[in-house]
Amino acid sequence: MAVMITDLCINCDACIDECPVGAIASVDDSPRGDWEYTYVKPEKCIECVEHASTPACAAACPTEECIVWDMPYTAEHNDYYVNSSDYVISSSKKRGLLSPEVAPQTFRDDISDEMRQAREAVAV
Ligand code: SF4
Ligand code: SF4
Repeated sequence: MAVMITDLCINCDACIDECPVGAIASVDDSPRGDWEYTYVKPEKCIECVEHASTPACAAACPTEECIVWDMPYTAEHNDYYVNSSDYVISSSKKRGLLSPEVAPQTFRDDISDEMRQAREAVAV
């Protein structure tokens, strides 16, 4: 990952079409049945690296501090993502569970682990 959409979300869906990799799901398409808000799939999110200077979802979002940083989607954080109740990681037929160990994603190295652990709001 990734960025995370919090419960400040008003489900306006403005972020969905802005994502360059189709990582954002509306409530109706969310793999998280217990989550009543738009959802970012961490196994797809590339933090807009090489696509935009800041995460495009946050730039499009009308709700202040709605979208926050989460940990990089890398093997180092495999257990965090696989065991978290905040996420439902998808699988592929060929590769199985697309965990951080199996399918790591790129991330912004100028965002510190401290900012990510604190789930600081994405600044745009
Ligand atoms: S940070 Fe970029 S890649 Fe990740 S969900 Fe937002 S728009 Fe998509
Ligand atoms: S743009 Fe913001 S408020 Fe609208 S659906 Fe996306 S995260 Fe939620």
